[in-house]
Amino acid sequence: MSMQTKVWKKSDNTEEMKEAIREAAELLHQEQVVAFPTETVYGLGADASNPSAVQRIFEAKGRPSDNPLIVHVADRKQVEQLVDEIPTMARKLMETFWPGPLTLIMKSNGSAAGNVTAGLTTIAIRMPDHPLALALLRASETPLAAPSANRSGRPSPTTAEHVYQDLDGRIAGILDGGPTGVGVESTVLDCTSEIPVILRPGGVTKEDLETILPTVMMDPAMINEQHRPKSPGMKYTHYAPEAPLWLIDGDDEFFENQVEKLKEENFRIGIIASEELLNKLDHNRIISCGSRENLEQVAERLYGALREFKESDVDVILCEAFPETGVGAAVMNRLNKAAVKKVTAY
Ligand code: AMP
Ligand code: MG
Repeated sequence: MSMQTKVWKKSDNTEEMKEAIREAAELLHQEQVVAFPTETVYGLGADASNPSAVQRIFEAKGRPSDNPLIVHVADRKQVEQLVDEIPTMARKLMETFWPGPLTLIMKSNGSAAGNVTAGLTTIAIRMPDHPLALALLRASETPLAAPSANRSGRPSPTTAEHVYQDLDGRIAGILDGGPTGVGVESTVLDCTSEIPVILRPGGVTKEDLETILPTVMMDPAMINEQHRPKSPGMKYTHYAPEAPLWLIDGDDEFFENQVEKLKEENFRIGIIASEELLNKLDHNRIISCGSRENLEQVAERLYGALREFKESDVDVILCEAFPETGVGAAVMNRLNKAAVKKVTAY
């Protein structure tokens, strides 16, 4: 699989961007896959009604075929093409949170390509909150299946450069819209049962959902590993940096002690930490994720930080555990998956 990957550079010239969108939509019509920015992370899009186009997503990413894709839509009409009935709960959520980082699982009417849903009877749908994503959806006149635009298992891309690192030569094009804002993927919410269940925490927090819904459950599979996950994607290795990541759950002194111990054993250490912790450490390979008081900022910077340390430079990456409130739940969900080891003081 090798092809020329066209990169449409970010431009302030609206005519240039319009032309880029037109060309990208044309490639999508030709069953090609194209990466585009959303407000969460970059997505890798293909015509959701076309199984051969969708197949190319799985091939380009090296994604297991039993892991279904999220379908992106430009408007409510496109949702109605994909499901026979929109549950009342889902309707309310769309009004409040769309466009935005909330994916709703509903009963599929079977019109999407079979490989989009990996043969499930349900389908995951969201409306992204990004002008380029929406423009591309409108221009291509079809819902787009779009997982994150990374090689399977790697951290999701938050810049066009990250997409290029992973997928150059494997996809038809990359629309550069600059860095994404939210930084972690959408919240996946199952709306097929009476009580909605969060299958994956993300940009819309449990607290946000609870302002609209009386009860929201967390998928037991996220809490207890023994449960079989309802969201097939949650069982795979994910978000892995090049060097093994250790998640350090303790106070700042505990973290410092871990660093000292590993230094004595001559480990080359990379550190991902908050500003607060960083100020207490004397170390040269540190990436800051921002303040631990500002979890939105931590989310925004997380995947970039995970991509920063190269295998050739460090033996181990130590990362601070963050509070699990608000979008911190999504941050910690991804870090727990990225980590090969957890060192806890408690
Ligand atoms: P990604 O496309 O990489 O952002 O991942 C999409 C996530 O949504 C994965 O965890 C999928 O397993 C999950 N997902 C997609 N469709 C469904 C569905 N019909 N039921 C449950 N989970 C789904
Ligand atoms: Mg992904």
